[in-house]
Amino acid sequence: MTNKIKTDVDAIVIGSGFAGLALIHYLRDAGLSVKVFDKASDIGGTWTWNRYPGAMTDSEGYYYCLAFSKELLQKWTWSQRYPAWEETHRYMHFIADECDMWPHIQLNTAVTNAEYREDSGTWLITTADGEQCTCKYFVSGMGMISEPVIPKIKGMDTFNGPLFHSARWPEGLDYAGKRVAIIGAGATTVQMMPVLAETAGNVTVFHRTPNFILPAMQKPMTPEWEKDIKDNYDDIIEKCRNHVFGMAFDSPVGRNAVDTPEEERQKIFEENWTGSFRWVFETFDDLLADPAANDMASEFIINKMKERIEDPEIAKILAPVVGEYPLFAKRPPLDHGYLEAYSRDNVNLVDIRNREPIVEITETGIRTTENDFEFDIIILATGFRAYTGALEAVTITGVNGQTLADKWETTSKSIMGVCVSGFPNMFTVTGPQAPFANLPTSIEQNAIWIANCIKKMEGDGHSLCTPKQEAEDEWSAHVSEVHVQTLMNQGDKVNSWMMGANIENHEPRVLIYFGGADVYYQKLRESSDAGFPEVSFASIAG
Ligand code: NAP
Repeated sequence: MTNKIKTDVDAIVIGSGFAGLALIHYLRDAGLSVKVFDKASDIGGTWTWNRYPGAMTDSEGYYYCLAFSKELLQKWTWSQRYPAWEETHRYMHFIADECDMWPHIQLNTAVTNAEYREDSGTWLITTADGEQCTCKYFVSGMGMISEPVIPKIKGMDTFNGPLFHSARWPEGLDYAGKRVAIIGAGATTVQMMPVLAETAGNVTVFHRTPNFILPAMQKPMTPEWEKDIKDNYDDIIEKCRNHVFGMAFDSPVGRNAVDTPEEERQKIFEENWTGSFRWVFETFDDLLADPAANDMASEFIINKMKERIEDPEIAKILAPVVGEYPLFAKRPPLDHGYLEAYSRDNVNLVDIRNREPIVEITETGIRTTENDFEFDIIILATGFRAYTGALEAVTITGVNGQTLADKWETTSKSIMGVCVSGFPNMFTVTGPQAPFANLPTSIEQNAIWIANCIKKMEGDGHSLCTPKQEAEDEWSAHVSEVHVQTLMNQGDKVNSWMMGANIENHEPRVLIYFGGADVYYQKLRESSDAGFPEVSFASIAG
């Protein structure tokens, strides 16, 4: 028998980004009543928070989308290869409008606590305003790169001007003619700096670890390209589901860099230098698996970077050194003019790793061991507490009063990133130990698994879904086993968020399944076909 205990709503979801929208669609389809809370004043998740100048997708737009409606895929047209945040945000409004999702969404509502109630098998959700709401299923759609990391720098609260994280861009901030500092030089800064530099008085980047920076090579949509995409959307979506990173790429290509003669290898590298992460996947199959191949790719990228950086001293700071760490141990940024922007008179680079570390932030700027810099605005482009941060920012309490933050103190285990033992009737979209992939593809596969799991349970007359400890141990062991075989396991050498190594006083850990998103999606489908053996179903009398 299904749970007769009354709750306010069947499912409560936190987050109205891609995950929230996908969950509304699939959970509603499964016959559930759904309520989505979001602390932001608009839907969009990442695309509402990350409004810094230059913010845009690094996946090509035509497959950075939800695929549940063929009609909507045909109806929407992207204006360029990588849509700017405004366009992606408009797309999300389009989905919400077309699918009548707004009645499910409550904005300006921060969830502070989610508590599992063992006697009824239900969840009690509490918001910052003290509103309380009960549900049978609690689902996180809070995003895997959404909780900002704010570094602790001496004097940070003394600065006289605006100082903020890149994902909290102040509305209407006027930076024209201003002296702007950016602390951090990851994917965010690579997008933001060249755009800021066009209007700001000057921009100074405080730089630590070099990145492998790949060119984006933006281009506008053309009628021919659009027709080609729309004529082939089924294949494109299928391609994403069968790709190791969930992208619509033509790979594997069936050849390895290490087996290819030098001249031919360079030719293939060169011919495929057409922008996006495609280059990593559509040249050779061994770049992320074989250290020698990875070094070959690294060297090619470094040379390409150096060709575009005018000043050799700047190049020394920006470009990694082959062997320092493998390509993809840190997520490579995509560049829309970042390297060239260092040729501008109003752009400066400060090497805080090897030359002049930051000592403190002062009332008027930033003091390093060598200089006193004056600024009007300081931007912290210092990244995110990936995968677990947003979940840990809410007090989520499972059985025996254990919180998720406590459970994940030293390791962050889950079952396929979709549920966690000790937290019945709770589901996560792209939780820890899911793959890192084209997010809408992964999100949709997770939402399908969650909706099918609930449908199966309720169809069988049950009301309680308990993730099994042994399934979690098994999945985590598998994720770790795969992780040590990849080159991404060196992320802890270079503070990579992919291992949680970017967080102070936090043990690096295996956060990502690198066995391939395609393999992972297949595992989700197999789990579904086998009746969800990773969880046990039961009934609670009510
Ligand atoms: P990030 O890649 O983690 O980079 C953070 C930067 O801040 C690094 O350069 C880091 O230096 C520096 N940093 C951190 N703490 C510091 C401190 N205390 N003092 C000085 N420097 C410090 O963060 P992000 O650039 O925001 O990008 C994070 C991820 O978000 C990306 O990898 C990507 O997955 C996603 N993202 C996606 C898009 C897109 O798809 N459109 C755009 C932007 C971001 P170290 O490297 O030395 O630690």
